[in-house]
Amino acid sequence: MYDFPPYRPPNEAGSALIRITRGCPWNRCTFCFMYKDIRFETKSLEEIRKDVNTARQIYKSVESIFLGDSDNLVHKELPEIVKIIREAFPEAKRITAYARAKTIKKRKMEFLSDVRKAGLDRLHIGLESGDEVVLGWLCKGVKPEEIIEAGLRARKAGFEVSFYVLSGAGGRKRWKEHAVNSAKVINAAKPNFIRLRTLTLKKGTPLKKTLERGEFETTPPLKRLKEVRLFVKELTVHKCYLASDHVTNYLWARGTAVYGGIAGVLPEDKETMLQTVDKAIEFVETTDAEVKDSNQLYEEGYLTAL
Ligand code: SF4
Repeated sequence: MYDFPPYRPPNEAGSALIRITRGCPWNRCTFCFMYKDIRFETKSLEEIRKDVNTARQIYKSVESIFLGDSDNLVHKELPEIVKIIREAFPEAKRITAYARAKTIKKRKMEFLSDVRKAGLDRLHIGLESGDEVVLGWLCKGVKPEEIIEAGLRARKAGFEVSFYVLSGAGGRKRWKEHAVNSAKVINAAKPNFIRLRTLTLKKGTPLKKTLERGEFETTPPLKRLKEVRLFVKELTVHKCYLASDHVTNYLWARGTAVYGGIAGVLPEDKETMLQTVDKAIEFVETTDAEVKDSNQLYEEGYLTAL
């Protein structure tokens, strides 16, 4: 085979995967487990060319391509690399990659435009939270205003922008600020997509250790639903698709999923999405059953392959 990215966004499940860098150049986020055992490195053009040739033999026809790992914009030769991939896969309708907001902010507009013109279409950016205090807890290494600037620069360069919001990141104490300030950043940065996933603390992560010391409390299911409601209510974006395309967003009772998240285009589907959350809130408030979230299921030995 060839050097394969270990992670990709859920909506890139059907994409051809090609690795440009290995690991994460930041690698300090307290909730993240993804690249902890990988020393960050950029791959050489020669190595990438070989992988692209092998991938071309494996994938007979591709609709979309995802480039790993976590922050390919650090690769100085990215415009040339994207060009090579485009030439090898002329049928691909979309090429996407993860990107750190801080790196987008640091990169010159000319570089961003060159990458875009070469054929990279979409950047998946981990906003996680728009609340400065919560970003500090998460050790994202970036401030809300820098994320806004990064989003606007990416849009100006012509990219589609997808922001990931980490529901539950405010914990029991700061869920309201997390909701309101995340909506504020999104309203200012105007991404094309918002993707919700829920903070699920895996063993060994620094935030899990903080939780075990009693210095952080996860957001219980009812408060998390209220957080999602407040977040959606505060959004003023247009032509923006919101998805909850991750199993961590689900809630379960008596072994059945009782909430599967919300999805729709903003602002048209806002009311429908709020109604869905309201129904779930009513269920949690009135049921006798224990309502479990992704953290509980993870602790019980489920959802281990997150
Ligand atoms: S969340 Fe993203 S930026 Fe943070 S350590 Fe993980 S991969 Fe790196």
